[in-house]
Amino acid sequence: EETHMSDIELRNVSKSYGDLQAVDGVDLSVRDGELLCLLGPSGCGKSTTMRMISGLEAPTSGEVHIGGEDVTDQAAYDRNTSMVFQNWALFPYKTVLENVAFGLKMRGDGTDERQREAGEMLERVHMDGYEEHSTTDLSGGQKQRVALARSLAVDPDVLLLDEPLSNLDKRLREEMEIELKDIHEEFDKTFVYVTHNQDEAFTLADRIGIMNDGRLVQVGAPTEVYRNPTNRFVEDFLGDTNFVAGEVTDVGDRHASLSTAFDATIRIPAFEAADPGASFTVSLRPEFIRVRRAGGADTPESTAARADGTGGDTITGTVENSIYRGSSIRYVVEVGGEQLFVGQRGTEQNGIEEGEAVGIGWDADNILGFHPAGRRARRA
Ligand code: ADP
Ligand code: MG
Repeated sequence: EETHMSDIELRNVSKSYGDLQAVDGVDLSVRDGELLCLLGPSGCGKSTTMRMISGLEAPTSGEVHIGGEDVTDQAAYDRNTSMVFQNWALFPYKTVLENVAFGLKMRGDGTDERQREAGEMLERVHMDGYEEHSTTDLSGGQKQRVALARSLAVDPDVLLLDEPLSNLDKRLREEMEIELKDIHEEFDKTFVYVTHNQDEAFTLADRIGIMNDGRLVQVGAPTEVYRNPTNRFVEDFLGDTNFVAGEVTDVGDRHASLSTAFDATIRIPAFEAADPGASFTVSLRPEFIRVRRAGGADTPESTAARADGTGGDTITGTVENSIYRGSSIRYVVEVGGEQLFVGQRGTEQNGIEEGEAVGIGWDADNILGFHPAGRRARRA
Protein backbone atom coordinates (compact mmCIF):
# COMPACT_ATOMS: atom_id res chain seq x y z
CA GLU A 1 0.00 0.00 0.00
CA GLU A 2 1.14 3.52 -0.83
CA THR A 3 2.55 5.55 2.03
CA HIS A 4 1.69 9.22 2.28
CA MET A 5 3.54 12.03 4.03
CA SER A 6 1.25 12.00 7.02
CA ASP A 7 0.45 8.36 7.70
CA ILE A 8 1.10 7.46 11.31
CA GLU A 9 1.81 3.96 12.44
CA LEU A 10 2.36 2.78 15.99
CA ARG A 11 3.80 -0.72 16.20
CA ASN A 12 3.38 -2.47 19.51
CA VAL A 13 4.14 0.74 21.38
CA SER A 14 4.39 0.63 25.18
CA LYS A 15 5.36 3.17 27.80
CA SER A 16 5.98 2.51 31.46
CA TYR A 17 6.80 4.89 34.27
CA GLY A 18 8.45 2.67 36.87
CA ASP A 19 5.86 0.01 37.70
CA LEU A 20 3.07 1.86 35.97
CA GLN A 21 2.22 0.66 32.46
CA ALA A 22 0.77 3.86 30.97
CA VAL A 23 0.52 2.50 27.41
CA ASP A 24 0.44 -1.20 26.71
CA GLY A 25 1.21 -2.67 23.28
CA VAL A 26 -0.66 -0.22 21.06
CA ASP A 27 -0.88 -0.97 17.33
CA LEU A 28 -2.50 1.85 15.41
CA SER A 29 -2.55 3.14 11.85
CA VAL A 30 -3.78 6.65 11.18
CA ARG A 31 -4.42 7.36 7.51
CA ASP A 32 -3.19 10.40 5.64
CA GLY A 33 -5.71 13.24 6.03
CA GLU A 34 -7.81 11.39 8.58
CA LEU A 35 -9.20 12.82 11.80
CA LEU A 36 -8.72 10.09 14.39
CA CYS A 37 -9.97 10.57 17.94
CA LEU A 38 -8.34 8.74 20.83
CA LEU A 39 -11.18 8.36 23.30
CA GLY A 40 -11.14 6.91 26.80
CA PRO A 41 -11.48 7.69 30.48
CA SER A 42 -9.01 9.89 32.30
CA GLY A 43 -5.68 8.16 32.92
CA CYS A 44 -6.09 5.49 30.21
CA GLY A 45 -2.98 6.59 28.30
CA LYS A 46 -4.30 8.91 25.59
CA SER A 47 -1.93 11.83 26.18
CA THR A 48 1.05 9.53 26.60
CA THR A 49 0.23 7.90 23.24
CA MET A 50 -0.03 11.32 21.62
CA ARG A 51 3.22 12.52 23.18
CA MET A 52 4.96 9.49 21.71
CA ILE A 53 3.67 10.47 18.25
CA SER A 54 4.99 14.01 18.76
CA GLY A 55 8.33 12.86 20.15
CA LEU A 56 7.83 14.54 23.53
CA GLU A 57 8.00 11.04 25.07
CA ALA A 58 10.06 8.08 23.93
CA PRO A 59 8.37 4.65 23.98
CA THR A 60 9.74 2.04 26.37
CA SER A 61 9.33 -0.41 23.49
CA GLY A 62 7.82 -0.46 20.03
CA GLU A 63 8.12 1.81 16.99
CA VAL A 64 6.59 5.05 15.76
CA HIS A 65 6.44 5.65 12.00
CA ILE A 66 5.35 8.88 10.33
CA GLY A 67 5.07 9.13 6.54
CA GLY A 68 6.63 5.69 6.22
CA GLU A 69 9.73 6.69 8.17
CA ASP A 70 10.76 5.20 11.50
CA VAL A 71 10.89 8.28 13.76
CA THR A 72 11.11 6.40 17.07
CA ASP A 73 14.54 7.84 17.84
CA GLN A 74 13.87 11.26 16.36
CA ALA A 75 13.52 14.29 18.63
CA ALA A 76 10.24 16.22 18.65
CA TYR A 77 11.70 19.16 16.71
CA ASP A 78 12.82 16.85 13.90
CA ARG A 79 9.28 15.55 13.38
CA ASN A 80 6.91 17.69 11.39
CA THR A 81 4.14 17.49 13.96
CA SER A 82 2.44 20.30 15.82
CA MET A 83 0.49 20.19 19.06
CA VAL A 84 -2.53 22.05 20.43
CA PHE A 85 -3.12 21.88 24.17
CA GLN A 86 -6.08 22.33 26.47
CA ASN A 87 -4.52 25.34 28.17
CA TRP A 88 -3.63 27.07 24.85
CA ALA A 89 -0.04 27.80 25.94
CA LEU A 90 -0.11 31.23 24.30
CA PHE A 91 2.45 33.92 25.11
CA PRO A 92 0.57 36.45 27.24
CA TYR A 93 2.83 39.42 26.49
CA LYS A 94 2.80 38.99 22.73
CA THR A 95 0.04 40.10 20.36
CA VAL A 96 -2.20 37.65 18.59
CA LEU A 97 -0.21 38.08 15.38
CA GLU A 98 3.13 37.60 17.17
CA ASN A 99 1.83 34.41 18.73
CA VAL A 100 0.89 32.96 15.37
CA ALA A 101 4.12 34.17 13.76
CA PHE A 102 6.24 32.62 16.51
CA GLY A 103 6.60 29.16 14.98
CA LEU A 104 7.42 30.71 11.62
CA LYS A 105 10.19 32.72 13.26
CA MET A 106 11.61 29.55 14.77
CA ARG A 107 11.53 28.10 11.28
CA GLY A 108 13.62 31.01 9.99
CA ASP A 109 11.04 32.80 7.82
CA GLY A 110 11.67 36.51 7.22
CA THR A 111 9.63 39.20 8.99
CA ASP A 112 7.39 40.22 6.08
CA GLU A 113 6.69 36.63 5.15
CA ARG A 114 5.85 35.78 8.78
CA GLN A 115 3.43 38.68 9.08
CA ARG A 116 1.69 37.79 5.85
CA GLU A 117 1.41 34.07 6.62
CA ALA A 118 0.31 34.65 10.21
CA GLY A 119 -2.29 37.13 8.98
CA GLU A 120 -3.62 34.64 6.44
CA MET A 121 -3.81 31.94 9.06
CA LEU A 122 -5.77 34.20 11.41
CA GLU A 123 -8.23 34.85 8.63
CA ARG A 124 -8.74 31.14 8.12
CA VAL A 125 -9.68 30.66 11.78
CA HIS A 126 -11.90 33.78 11.67
CA MET A 127 -9.64 35.86 13.91
CA ASP A 128 -8.73 38.57 11.41
CA GLY A 129 -9.11 41.98 13.01
CA TYR A 130 -7.51 40.73 16.24
CA GLU A 131 -3.90 40.86 15.02
CA GLU A 132 -2.78 43.58 17.45
CA HIS A 133 -4.85 42.41 20.43
CA SER A 134 -3.21 40.99 23.51
CA THR A 135 -4.06 37.30 23.98
CA THR A 136 -5.00 37.98 27.61
CA ASP A 137 -8.08 39.92 26.39
CA LEU A 138 -9.44 37.00 24.37
CA SER A 139 -12.24 34.59 25.30
CA GLY A 140 -11.48 30.87 25.66
CA GLY A 141 -12.80 30.12 22.19
CA GLN A 142 -10.73 32.91 20.63
CA LYS A 143 -7.61 31.75 22.43
CA GLN A 144 -8.14 28.27 21.06
CA ARG A 145 -8.53 29.65 17.53
CA VAL A 146 -5.23 31.52 17.90
CA ALA A 147 -3.53 28.39 19.25
CA LEU A 148 -4.85 26.46 16.25
CA ALA A 149 -3.62 29.11 13.84
CA ARG A 150 -0.20 29.03 15.47
CA SER A 151 0.03 25.25 15.16
CA LEU A 152 -1.19 25.20 11.56
CA ALA A 153 1.01 28.12 10.48
CA VAL A 154 4.13 25.94 10.44
CA ASP A 155 2.38 23.61 7.96
CA PRO A 156 2.83 20.38 9.95
CA ASP A 157 2.21 16.97 8.39
CA VAL A 158 0.32 15.98 11.50
CA LEU A 159 -1.66 18.10 13.95
CA LEU A 160 -1.98 16.64 17.44
CA LEU A 161 -4.74 18.04 19.66
CA ASP A 162 -4.90 17.10 23.34
CA GLU A 163 -8.34 17.87 24.81
CA PRO A 164 -8.26 21.30 23.15
CA LEU A 165 -11.86 22.16 24.01
CA SER A 166 -12.22 20.87 27.55
CA ASN A 167 -11.75 24.32 29.12
CA LEU A 168 -14.72 25.69 27.20
CA ASP A 169 -18.35 25.62 28.28
CA LYS A 170 -20.68 23.21 26.51
CA ARG A 171 -22.19 25.62 24.03
CA LEU A 172 -18.88 27.07 22.89
CA ARG A 173 -17.35 23.62 22.79
CA GLU A 174 -20.05 22.39 20.45
CA GLU A 175 -19.54 25.42 18.19
CA MET A 176 -15.79 24.83 18.13
CA GLU A 177 -16.28 21.14 17.35
CA ILE A 178 -18.06 22.06 14.12
CA GLU A 179 -15.42 24.66 13.32
CA LEU A 180 -12.58 22.22 13.95
CA LYS A 181 -14.25 19.74 11.64
CA ASP A 182 -14.41 22.42 8.93
CA ILE A 183 -10.79 23.38 9.51
CA HIS A 184 -9.75 19.76 9.23
CA GLU A 185 -11.58 19.38 5.93
CA GLU A 186 -10.14 22.62 4.60
CA PHE A 187 -6.52 21.94 5.56
CA ASP A 188 -6.57 18.29 4.53
CA LYS A 189 -4.05 17.24 7.19
CA THR A 190 -3.86 14.26 9.49
CA PHE A 191 -5.35 15.16 12.88
CA VAL A 192 -5.04 13.04 16.01
CA TYR A 193 -7.45 14.34 18.61
CA VAL A 194 -7.47 13.22 22.24
CA THR A 195 -10.66 13.49 24.26
CA HIS A 196 -12.51 11.81 27.11
CA ASN A 197 -15.81 13.15 25.76
CA GLN A 198 -17.83 10.71 23.60
CA ASP A 199 -20.01 13.43 22.06
CA GLU A 200 -16.93 15.30 20.93
CA ALA A 201 -15.42 12.15 19.42
CA PHE A 202 -18.67 11.29 17.63
CA THR A 203 -18.99 14.81 16.24
CA LEU A 204 -15.43 15.09 14.98
CA ALA A 205 -13.95 11.72 14.17
CA ASP A 206 -13.57 9.86 10.92
CA ARG A 207 -12.55 6.97 13.16
CA ILE A 208 -12.40 6.57 16.92
CA GLY A 209 -9.72 4.64 18.80
CA ILE A 210 -11.06 3.64 22.20
CA MET A 211 -8.53 3.19 24.98
CA ASN A 212 -8.84 1.61 28.38
CA ASP A 213 -6.11 0.96 30.89
CA GLY A 214 -3.23 1.62 28.49
CA ARG A 215 -4.64 -0.55 25.74
CA LEU A 216 -6.27 0.33 22.45
CA VAL A 217 -9.50 -1.62 22.72
CA GLN A 218 -11.15 -0.92 19.37
CA VAL A 219 -10.70 1.32 16.36
CA GLY A 220 -13.51 2.07 13.95
CA ALA A 221 -15.92 4.57 12.44
CA PRO A 222 -18.31 6.09 15.00
CA THR A 223 -21.23 3.95 13.81
CA GLU A 224 -19.06 0.83 13.88
CA VAL A 225 -17.84 1.22 17.46
CA TYR A 226 -21.31 2.20 18.65
CA ARG A 227 -23.30 -0.50 16.89
CA ASN A 228 -20.68 -3.22 16.88
CA PRO A 229 -18.51 -2.94 20.03
CA THR A 230 -15.91 -5.65 20.52
CA ASN A 231 -16.34 -5.76 24.26
CA ARG A 232 -18.43 -4.68 27.18
CA PHE A 233 -16.16 -1.75 28.08
CA VAL A 234 -16.82 -0.09 24.72
CA GLU A 235 -20.57 -0.70 24.93
CA ASP A 236 -20.62 0.78 28.43
CA PHE A 237 -18.37 3.75 27.68
CA LEU A 238 -20.16 4.91 24.52
CA GLY A 239 -23.53 5.65 26.06
CA ASP A 240 -26.12 4.54 28.55
CA THR A 241 -27.21 0.98 28.42
CA ASN A 242 -28.95 -1.77 30.37
CA PHE A 243 -26.75 -4.74 31.06
CA VAL A 244 -29.00 -7.69 31.83
CA ALA A 245 -27.52 -10.86 33.31
CA GLY A 246 -28.95 -14.24 32.45
CA GLU A 247 -28.43 -17.79 31.27
CA VAL A 248 -28.78 -19.00 27.73
CA THR A 249 -31.40 -21.77 27.74
CA ASP A 250 -31.80 -22.56 24.08
CA VAL A 251 -30.19 -21.56 20.78
CA GLY A 252 -32.32 -21.73 17.64
CA ASP A 253 -31.68 -20.71 14.04
CA ARG A 254 -32.33 -17.01 14.37
CA HIS A 255 -32.92 -16.46 18.05
CA ALA A 256 -31.77 -17.83 21.38
CA SER A 257 -33.58 -17.69 24.71
CA LEU A 258 -32.10 -15.97 27.72
CA SER A 259 -33.52 -16.57 31.16
CA THR A 260 -32.90 -13.24 32.84
CA ALA A 261 -32.37 -11.81 36.30
CA PHE A 262 -35.65 -9.93 35.93
CA ASP A 263 -37.66 -13.12 35.89
CA ALA A 264 -38.52 -13.17 32.25
CA THR A 265 -37.17 -15.17 29.35
CA ILE A 266 -36.29 -12.94 26.43
CA ARG A 267 -35.22 -13.61 22.88
CA ILE A 268 -31.79 -12.54 21.68
CA PRO A 269 -30.16 -12.96 18.26
CA ALA A 270 -28.71 -16.48 17.94
CA PHE A 271 -25.34 -15.14 16.78
CA GLU A 272 -25.11 -12.95 19.88
CA ALA A 273 -25.64 -15.92 22.22
CA ALA A 274 -23.31 -18.19 24.17
CA ASP A 275 -23.78 -21.96 24.42
CA PRO A 276 -26.80 -23.13 26.43
CA GLY A 277 -26.08 -23.17 30.17
CA ALA A 278 -23.50 -20.41 29.99
CA SER A 279 -23.98 -17.36 32.15
CA PHE A 280 -24.09 -14.34 30.07
CA THR A 281 -24.85 -10.63 29.89
CA VAL A 282 -26.77 -8.79 27.23
CA SER A 283 -26.97 -5.09 26.51
CA LEU A 284 -30.21 -3.41 25.61
CA ARG A 285 -29.83 0.30 24.96
CA PRO A 286 -32.54 2.61 26.37
CA GLU A 287 -33.20 4.13 22.96
CA PHE A 288 -34.23 0.73 21.59
CA ILE A 289 -36.93 0.25 24.22
CA ARG A 290 -40.48 1.47 23.70
CA VAL A 291 -42.87 2.02 26.55
CA ARG A 292 -46.66 2.19 26.59
CA ARG A 293 -49.42 2.05 29.19
CA ALA A 294 -50.28 -1.50 30.22
CA GLY A 295 -53.39 -2.61 28.37
CA GLY A 296 -52.86 0.16 25.84
CA ALA A 297 -53.38 -0.60 22.20
CA ASP A 298 -50.53 -2.03 20.16
CA THR A 299 -49.00 0.41 17.78
CA PRO A 300 -49.07 -0.57 14.09
CA GLU A 301 -45.29 -1.00 14.31
CA SER A 302 -45.36 -3.42 17.21
CA THR A 303 -48.12 -5.51 15.60
CA ALA A 304 -46.25 -5.67 12.32
CA ALA A 305 -42.99 -6.49 14.04
CA ARG A 306 -44.51 -9.37 15.97
CA ALA A 307 -46.25 -10.73 12.89
CA ASP A 308 -42.99 -11.09 10.98
CA GLY A 309 -41.19 -12.50 14.00
CA THR A 310 -38.45 -9.88 14.08
CA GLY A 311 -39.39 -7.93 17.13
CA GLY A 312 -42.12 -6.57 19.28
CA ASP A 313 -40.92 -8.50 22.33
CA THR A 314 -42.79 -7.14 25.32
CA ILE A 315 -42.65 -7.49 29.09
CA THR A 316 -44.48 -5.60 31.78
CA GLY A 317 -43.16 -3.43 34.57
CA THR A 318 -43.85 -0.39 36.71
CA VAL A 319 -42.56 3.12 36.15
CA GLU A 320 -40.44 4.04 39.18
CA ASN A 321 -39.19 7.31 37.92
CA SER A 322 -39.57 9.60 34.97
CA ILE A 323 -37.03 12.26 34.21
CA TYR A 324 -38.01 15.00 31.83
CA ARG A 325 -35.08 16.20 29.76
CA GLY A 326 -36.78 18.51 27.31
CA SER A 327 -36.05 16.74 24.06
CA SER A 328 -36.38 13.32 25.68
CA ILE A 329 -37.85 11.50 28.65
CA ARG A 330 -35.99 8.90 30.62
CA TYR A 331 -38.04 6.29 32.48
CA VAL A 332 -36.75 3.94 35.13
CA VAL A 333 -38.96 0.87 34.87
CA GLU A 334 -38.95 -1.81 37.55
CA VAL A 335 -39.24 -5.33 36.15
CA GLY A 336 -39.08 -8.36 38.46
CA GLY A 337 -37.01 -6.46 41.02
CA GLU A 338 -34.54 -5.11 38.45
CA GLN A 339 -34.39 -1.66 36.91
CA LEU A 340 -34.39 -0.93 33.21
CA PHE A 341 -33.65 2.47 31.75
CA VAL A 342 -35.92 3.45 28.91
CA GLY A 343 -35.35 6.53 26.78
CA GLN A 344 -38.05 8.09 24.67
CA ARG A 345 -38.03 11.16 22.53
CA GLY A 346 -40.08 13.81 24.27
CA THR A 347 -42.63 14.05 21.51
CA GLU A 348 -43.41 10.33 21.55
CA GLN A 349 -44.62 9.85 25.10
CA ASN A 350 -46.67 12.07 27.29
CA GLY A 351 -48.47 11.56 30.52
CA ILE A 352 -47.13 8.24 31.78
CA GLU A 353 -46.98 8.72 35.54
CA GLU A 354 -44.68 7.32 38.17
CA GLY A 355 -46.23 4.17 39.65
CA GLU A 356 -48.06 3.26 36.46
CA ALA A 357 -47.94 -0.25 35.03
CA VAL A 358 -46.44 -0.28 31.55
CA GLY A 359 -45.52 -2.64 28.77
CA ILE A 360 -42.02 -2.24 27.46
CA GLY A 361 -40.97 -3.64 24.14
CA TRP A 362 -38.02 -3.85 21.82
CA ASP A 363 -36.73 -5.49 18.71
CA ALA A 364 -34.76 -8.56 19.82
CA ASP A 365 -32.30 -8.00 16.97
CA ASN A 366 -30.95 -4.88 18.71
CA ILE A 367 -29.61 -6.93 21.64
CA LEU A 368 -25.86 -7.53 21.97
CA GLY A 369 -24.34 -10.37 24.03
CA PHE A 370 -21.17 -10.42 26.16
CA HIS A 371 -19.22 -13.22 27.83
CA PRO A 372 -18.52 -12.88 31.57
CA ALA A 373 -14.99 -11.52 30.97
CA GLY A 374 -16.46 -8.79 28.77
CA ARG A 375 -15.69 -10.08 25.30
CA ARG A 376 -18.44 -9.72 22.72
CA ALA A 377 -20.15 -13.05 22.07
CA ARG A 378 -20.93 -12.42 18.43
CA ARG A 379 -20.40 -15.49 16.24
CA ALA A 380 -19.83 -14.23 12.72
P1 ADP B 1 -4.92 10.29 29.75
O1 ADP B 1 -4.35 11.32 28.84
O2 ADP B 1 -5.68 9.23 29.06
O3 ADP B 1 -5.72 10.90 30.88
P2 ADP B 1 -2.13 9.84 30.45
O4 ADP B 1 -1.53 9.35 29.19
O5 ADP B 1 -1.90 11.25 30.80
O6 ADP B 1 -3.70 9.51 30.44
O7 ADP B 1 -1.61 8.96 31.67
C1 ADP B 1 -1.67 7.55 31.67
C2 ADP B 1 -1.11 7.06 32.99
O8 ADP B 1 0.28 7.37 33.05
C3 ADP B 1 -1.76 7.71 34.20
O9 ADP B 1 -1.84 6.75 35.22
C4 ADP B 1 -0.77 8.81 34.54
O10 ADP B 1 -0.84 9.12 35.91
C5 ADP B 1 0.56 8.19 34.19
N1 ADP B 1 1.57 9.16 33.77
C6 ADP B 1 1.48 10.01 32.71
N2 ADP B 1 2.61 10.73 32.59
C7 ADP B 1 3.43 10.34 33.58
C8 ADP B 1 4.76 10.73 34.01
N3 ADP B 1 5.45 11.66 33.33
N4 ADP B 1 5.27 10.11 35.07
C9 ADP B 1 4.58 9.16 35.74
N5 ADP B 1 3.35 8.75 35.40
C10 ADP B 1 2.77 9.33 34.35
MG1 MG C 1 -4.61 13.42 28.89
